Amino acid sequence: MVATILVGMLCAHLLCFSVMFWLVSKRLHGNKMGMDIFAMGNLLLGFAYVLQLAEGGPAWSLVSAVNHTFTLAAPVAYWLGAMRFFGLPAPFWRPLLAVAVTYSAAQVLVQWSLGPVARYAMLSGMSALLFLAMVITVVHGVRTFAKDLYAEMVFFAVLISGICVLNALKFMKLVDGGLDALQMDGSFQLVFYIYMSSLATVLPPAIIWLVLRRLTDALRNLAARDPLTQLLNRRGLSEALQMYFNSRKAVPAYLLLVDIDHFKRINDTHGHQIGDAVLRHVAEVLRGAVRRGDLAGRIGGEEFLIVCLDSDLHGVRLLAERLRSAVERQAVHTTGGAHPLHCTVTMGVSNPFAGAHAFEGAMQEADAALYRGKAAGRNRIEWPQIAHGEPPTPIVGASTT
Ligand code: GH3
Ligand code: MG
Ligand code: MG
Repeated sequence: MVATILVGMLCAHLLCFSVMFWLVSKRLHGNKMGMDIFAMGNLLLGFAYVLQLAEGGPAWSLVSAVNHTFTLAAPVAYWLGAMRFFGLPAPFWRPLLAVAVTYSAAQVLVQWSLGPVARYAMLSGMSALLFLAMVITVVHGVRTFAKDLYAEMVFFAVLISGICVLNALKFMKLVDGGLDALQMDGSFQLVFYIYMSSLATVLPPAIIWLVLRRLTDALRNLAARDPLTQLLNRRGLSEALQMYFNSRKAVPAYLLLVDIDHFKRINDTHGHQIGDAVLRHVAEVLRGAVRRGDLAGRIGGEEFLIVCLDSDLHGVRLLAERLRSAVERQAVHTTGGAHPLHCTVTMGVSNPFAGAHAFEGAMQEADAALYRGKAAGRNRIEWPQIAHGEPPTPIVGASTT
């Protein structure tokens, strides 16, 4: 009786959360993060348990066969949904139908050749294997495509391992003791359904939490990045700087203002689209040339900003020259353009500054240096005027000052 009530509650949970996943998926345009497939997984499992209640007890009937096929198809759907959540391309209908047809055929074959116990044991064994595969995927995900969700993935792996173990135990009990293992009020079935209904309560909110995390991360990223180049925008730069200077080991930073030379001429000669391609190219070169941990942003039309963190004057000199020469050396290949384009940049560097509040002052210093660089002929690095009593000595190189 208790187990039957638990199965009833399980059905209600699964079907309600199926509707919720479906509603969430309707709100997500484009990338549905697997929510539509999770809705399908819950629907299949929910209906499987409804059929189990209708079936009454273990017996060979159409209802029982459909119940087993749905029960096995549900974890397949969850697995495919998880792939979609992690942005991995996963087809849905074909593999699901293939599993459903193959498993239905296997049921008929096993029932006729080996009997009912084997059919029930096959369901538990296959479910245990599927959940084991899911645990392996989750563990693999923590190391590769879901590094940012470490705690959540470990939580999922532990919970899914529980279903895997319970199904493996059910398999062994069936092989040992036959269909008696499926007695609804037996202690094993009771534990099995208590665990399953707890999971049906805990897992869906956890999945919704993951979706919420992904969405808020995407929104924060959208607000902090320039859409054309994907570099940080002013807001992203200032947030990242704030975080850096809040950390205990922060040392003074340098600011490098980078401006493309004669960009208007590129726009006027080749058109705005080629101009955009040049902006993306320069952004890519800068991104590739800065060190890990430095900040790179686009703060206006053809102006970029590099914030050099955890470095000294010597390091900044090397970085500035590396950036300048990389832009000068690498041609811009544009679609439709007959010849690759070349462009150069002029840079103005600030004195070291030691807090987010000093950012505007450093910007003014870098801007003044940049202005001098433009006046002095462009494609060069201009240093700030006397800082801390000692003017920075120029880096070795023809085009630096
Ligand atoms: P200088 O060497 O002195 O920096 O000259 P410049 O031509 O690079 O500088 P100027 O400020 O005269 O021109 C900047 C141009 O950048 C003008 C503007 O039309 C163009 N621009 C600003 N934003 C964008 C953009 O998003 N895309 C494209 N293609 N052009 C842009
Ligand atoms: Mg310019
Ligand atoms: Mg400019």
